[in-house]
Parts: sequence; C-alpha cells; structure tokens
Amino acid sequence: METYRPAGWLEALVAAALRTTLRTLLKPVFSPRWSIVFQRRWLSALARISLVPRSVSINPGDAGGVPGQWLRHGDVPAVRAGTLLYLHGGAYCVGSPATHRALTARLAQGTGVPVFAADYRLAPEHPFPAALDDALAAYRALRQRGPVVVAGDSAGGGLALSLTLALREAGEEQPAGLMLLSPWADMAPDTLPPEPPGEAMLSAAWAQACAAYYLASPPDQRVWVTSPLKADLRDLPPVLIQAATDEMLHGQALALHEALQSAGVTSRCEITERRWHVFQLHGGALRSADEAIARLCHFARQRLDAVTAPRHSEHEVVIMGAGMSGVCMGIGLNRAGIRDWVMLEKQPGVGGTWWDNTYPGAHVDVPSPVYAFSFAPNPRWSRRFASAPEIQRYAQALADRHHLGARTRLGTELTEARFDDTTGHWHLRTARGDTLRARFFVCSTGPLNQPRWPGIPGLDSFAGDRLHSARWNHRTPLAGRRVAVIGTGSTASQLVPPIAAQAARLHVFQRTANWVLPRLDRRYGWLDHLLARLPPYAVFTRWAWTQVLEWGRRGFDEGTVARRGMLKTAALHRDRQVPDPALRDALTPTYPLGCKRIIYSNDFYPALTRPHVELVTTGIERITPRGIVTTDGRERPVDVLVCATGFDTVQLLSSVQVTGLGGQTLRQAWSQGPQAYHGISVAGFPNLFLMLGPNTATGHTSTLLYIEPEVRHAIACMQRVRQAGQRWIAVRPEVMTEHNRALQQRLGGSVWAQCRSWYRMEGGKIVALFPGFTAEYVRAVWPPRAADYETD
Ligand code: NAP
Repeated sequence: METYRPAGWLEALVAAALRTTLRTLLKPVFSPRWSIVFQRRWLSALARISLVPRSVSINPGDAGGVPGQWLRHGDVPAVRAGTLLYLHGGAYCVGSPATHRALTARLAQGTGVPVFAADYRLAPEHPFPAALDDALAAYRALRQRGPVVVAGDSAGGGLALSLTLALREAGEEQPAGLMLLSPWADMAPDTLPPEPPGEAMLSAAWAQACAAYYLASPPDQRVWVTSPLKADLRDLPPVLIQAATDEMLHGQALALHEALQSAGVTSRCEITERRWHVFQLHGGALRSADEAIARLCHFARQRLDAVTAPRHSEHEVVIMGAGMSGVCMGIGLNRAGIRDWVMLEKQPGVGGTWWDNTYPGAHVDVPSPVYAFSFAPNPRWSRRFASAPEIQRYAQALADRHHLGARTRLGTELTEARFDDTTGHWHLRTARGDTLRARFFVCSTGPLNQPRWPGIPGLDSFAGDRLHSARWNHRTPLAGRRVAVIGTGSTASQLVPPIAAQAARLHVFQRTANWVLPRLDRRYGWLDHLLARLPPYAVFTRWAWTQVLEWGRRGFDEGTVARRGMLKTAALHRDRQVPDPALRDALTPTYPLGCKRIIYSNDFYPALTRPHVELVTTGIERITPRGIVTTDGRERPVDVLVCATGFDTVQLLSSVQVTGLGGQTLRQAWSQGPQAYHGISVAGFPNLFLMLGPNTATGHTSTLLYIEPEVRHAIACMQRVRQAGQRWIAVRPEVMTEHNRALQQRLGGSVWAQCRSWYRMEGGKIVALFPGFTAEYVRAVWPPRAADYETD
C-alpha cells in the first residue's frame, strides 16, 4: 500500500474550502429524506461548475446500445490503441457521465485514448441487473475496438469489479486493467463502519437505502453482485485502487486490496491522507486530485501498452528518450502546434538520467534554480542542490502538467531507424516489433545513458554483489558489509558518503585525484518557497545563478581571477577537511583544474577520513571472485563491488541502427568519433535532430540551458520544411565540416585536452564538450541560420 500526504498551504486552503462546500451543499442532500429525483437534479446542477479541460471534446454517443458520453483529447491520432470504460458512482441511484466530467475528461487527456462514460440505468427504476447488463454490453462493444481498461468510482467501482467477475464467469476476455476509486465493494447490510469525522459526502443510512433500491428484485444475488469483495477474486487483471483516509469506504479499499493480493492478483492500493470520498472529482482545483489522476492515467497507459499487439503507426515526429530534453521537446512541439508526435522511452518512467541514477546520495551538481526550464520554474525545490528523486519528480510533474503521458510510450526501445529519401520519412522499429513512420526523428537520449563498466580483468568472475551507479539495485544490502567503490568522479563523490555511513569497511579505488570545491548547499525554507512563486523573483534567481556559473567558466582559462580564486578555494577546502598530509597528497590532482568535471562536495573528503574507509591509489590489477587485487599483489576481499565508472559517451546512439541518405549509417559517419552541427544536426541524416548531441556537454553549468535553444532550433527547422511543403532538411556537409574543424582547433589548446576524461576519445579527440560560454552557444544556435541547411 502506498500512502500520499498532500503538502503545501495553498493545497490545504483549497481542500478546506472544498470540504466545507461538500458538507454544506452535497452531504445533506445525499439522504433518504430527499427523493432520488431531487438528489439527481441537485447533483446535476452542482456538476455544472466542474472544471473541464478545454482540449477535451465531449460528445453524446453510445456503446453496445448503452448511452453515454465520449470524451476525446485533441484531434490527432492517438499513440496507443484502446478505450477506457468509465462507470460513475452514485450508489446505483444517482450520478451520470455529466457529474463526473471533471475526472473523465482528465482521464481522456492523460491517457490519450477515448473514454466512454456509460450512462447505465439506475435504481430504483432499474434495479439489478440493469446496471450490470449495461456495463457488460458497453464493455463488449468497446472490446471489439481493442483493449479496454475499466474504471469506476464508489458504486461504479463495485460495478467495475462485478463486471470483471461476470466476464470471468462467462469465460470472456477480461479488461486490460481495473481502476477502482473508493470502490463500494461490499453492499451487504451493516458492512459500513461508523462515519469517520472527515467524511464529506456519504452517510451509511443513505448508502443502505440506495443498496436496498438496487438489490430490490432478484432472488439470485450471488456474492459477486452484493459483495464482490468477498467473492473468489482469482485470475483478475491488474488492479489499481485509490481511496482516502477520511471516508467510510477507506476500510473496504484496504480489505479489497488484501483480498486481491491473497488471490494472487497484481494489486496496488494508493491511500491519500486527509482527503475524502472520490476526491479525484476535484481535478483541476486540487493538486492532490490532479496527482492521483496522473497516477491513474499512468496505470491505464501501461496496461493498454502491455496488452496491445505490435502495430504500425504514423506521426509527424518521433522522439526517442523521455529525459529532460525529450520532455522539453514534447512541450515545444505542442506549443508550436505540432501535436502529432510520439515519445518512446525504454525505461518504465520519465526523467532519463534522473530515472536511471538512483544511487544513494544522487543529486544535481548545479544550483536547482538553473536546473529548471525557463518556462517552468519549480518553487518546490527543497534545497539548493536538489536530490535525484526530486528532479525526477520535477520531470514527471512537467510531463503531467503538459499531458505528455498521453503521447509517451514507456518501456519501448527503439532498435532501428532508416531514412527514406524518396518520401522524406523515417521508418523506425522497436524491440518488440512495432513499426513507426515519421517525418522527423528526434534523438533525445543525451550523452550519459550507456553505463560504462570498467574493463578490468576478472570483473565478471566477482561472486558478490556487483552494482553500477547508473543501474542501482536498492535491494542490495550495504549495512555492515565490505564494499569497494571503483572511481572517484562526480558520481563516486556523491555515493561514497552515504555508503561510508553504512558499510563495515569501504575501499575507494582512485585512479586519478579530482578537483573538489565546496558545495554551497542549503535547505530552502518557507520564505524561499513563497518568493519562488513570484515570477520576477524566480526569473531573477535563475538569471543570477546562470551568471555565477558563467563566471565559473572563466576558471577554465589560464591567468584569470576566477581560476586563481577556484584553485585557492580548492586547496583551502582540502586542507581544512583532510588533516592527514599523506591522504591530502593522495587527493591532490595532478591535472589542470577544469579538465575533468569539477566536483562540488562538502562530505566526500570527510567520508574518506573515517577510520573504516580506505582510499586505495595503487592500480587495480584484476578482480577475483572474492575481491580486488591491486598491482602490488594485495587482495582486498569485498562483499559488494560498486562501479562508479561513468558512461560510454563515445558510442553515442550505438544501440540503434540509424541509416541516413545513401544507406550510410551513423556508425559509419562517426567512425572517427561523433560529430554534428551544434550538436543538433548531422550531414547526410535529414530530418534527424539530436538533443545534447556531440560537443554540447559543459563543465560549468546546467545542461537545461542548452536544451531549450536546441529544441527551438530543431522545431524551427521542422517548421521550415512543413511550411515550404518540402520533404527534408539537412545541415550542409561543408558547414558541418567547417564547424567541427573550428571547434576542434579551439578545443586542441584548451584545458580539456590535458587529461583523460569522458569528454574525450581514446585518441584524444574531444567529442563531448562545448568549449565556450552558455551565452555563446545560445547565440550560435538561435535562430538557426537558413543558409547552413539544405532542403529538398
Ligand atoms: P566519470 O566522471 O567518467 O568518472 C568515472 C570514474 O571512474 C573516474 O574516477 C575514473 O577514473 C574511474 N574509472 C573508470 N574506469 C576505471 C578503471 N578501469 N579503473 C579504475 N577507475 C576507473 O563518471 P561519473 O562520476 O559517473 O560522472 C560522469 C558525469 O555525469 C559527470 O561528469 C557529470 O557531468 C555527470 N554527473 C552529474 C551529476 C549531477 O549532479 N548533475 C552527478 C553525477 C554525475 P579516471 O578519472 O582516472 O578516468
């Protein structure tokens, strides 16, 4: 069971207002004292003020002869097959598709598939089995069109469960998944507990009166009708249950989750604290409701994608990779009016490197205000250097706010991309055999997505637990064990302190000492959060930090004040934190500051001074099943081997076979190392746009500052082709050659040429780094120079 605790004063204020409104205007009417007809009218009148997103069209229609409403988001082809059948709540007696529009419209928006909200027949006019018959008829009709996820709230949740059990009994195909919101899963008399003090909607007397209307006629009331909670629940599809603590049906949600799990069904139960019955109906007003709906949509999308057979689809743009740059590209395309795109992500979540890197202590190494897009400041950062989970949540929140999930296919790996110069389209293939056709292909996988294992003899023979920092296994215990960390780069500097706090013994294998500067971190308090909500303050803070980091770039050039200041600070920091002169020497870099990425840390040096932590500077000779042998012949036995050895940044895009004009592959084009024009376009590969491609990494600032202009540049190129009715656009080969000649000439004499790093290839060519200031890159990239591109 997952518990969610809504936070923030604004959310608390809105929740209090809504709760009071429900208690005053709704709860008194949901009572046996009022006629059902009056209750229905009153509910319909209140529903008129629900907030429905404008991008969703709502039309009356039917499915299998059952009337209802069709809700559809946008006017471009959906990226996934399937439908969502929604069964509204209202104790089988009141409610309608109209009363639930605020929720169902958001489900259509967030899943990208049509939602059919069934207007099933209600009691007392139509007692059992009318509602179930209608639900079955609607489901069977929708099933003809593809997979169906069934969702329902309250009585609709109970009905969804009964429907699934009825299908199982009849031996018919089950829904792809079930989403039950505060389900009324047991209608047997006296099963409702006393009203909790926070209950804003229901009363036991009303629910029981309605149950009596619904179950009035049939003698044959099997347990799955009256109390599906107590039925045999085996062989049901995966279920997502959502409920709240302040509602009478809280207990039923928990009991159902337990019963499903005991029956071997995959069930997830999400409980939101301090919320009431079906609080998701307040989507658009209440942040906790929006977040719960986003989780529902995520589940529905996953279920539909899981059961859909391989298929072919056609789009204007395919984006590969749902990291920061993929998210920015999706938002940019929507804003530019290019809405027919799909984003493919091999991982099961968005965030890219922030999804992959969950090692202990992972955090950003630039101040958080610059680790947010200019159009989406984040007033909720908890500290100046945000943690990796916080950044992943930021990426997720952005994707949710801009409804990117509807156009994102998670768990989908692209294996092949081939440009067809006769039509000007890319033909793409995924690992599971889906094929896609798109005019434009955006690779937003970035440089840091292929973990690099060290090529140390015997690595595979190690018999203990072996971890790479970018593929952390949180089930591997560290407490009280002997741990070895190979590497002392940015990643190692972050994971060594938390590992040192748990391990019985820690050996840190350093090949090269690195420059370490203090991290000017601090926790953000309520005043920061308040100020961050004021746009001028947010804009100023981001701008100010950008300038500070730009100033830091000067530190990479010999003879500058910045460099002298940084060298002095690094020496002071080391001397203050490392009292042992021998250790201090071992930690003193021998290469010029800035050649590798500078580490910002306050706890790396102190961790290395702890008595149970050893810094090993003797080279590693080999790895044995028991541990690590250094070149002096000494073996250090370890239980856990952590490789913080970085990423393969040279074999960019090596997992996808990309073929451009004349059958040339990207691998062939990059045989001398990856190169592009501003890291965005590659000659011979029309309509292909890279995000954070070759020579766009920086040693001094936030990559997000580079992503935004790259996205604008790529979209401007796309618009040029679209508006001119042409087939393709590609950077001129001579322009790209000259661009890279100048770049390499500049890099040749730079600080980055003076040591080994992930910026360089074995032979010394620097393929990852951009040598200049951010402002220089932004000016060069935006607006794109028309003459640098050719079109056809
Ligand atoms: P890295 O900078 O490439 O460091 C890899 C470390 O492993 C180095 O110390 C390297 O030693 C060592 N190593 C590699 N192969 C080895 C071998 N065979 N034997 C012994 N040692 C070996 O990788 P990283 O620390 O993962 O950082 C990569 C980049 O990720 C950073 O530069 C940064 O841009 C990014 N990053 C960002 C954040 C953030 O907060 N934004 C956090 C972490 C990482 P040598 O130095 O001798 O090669």
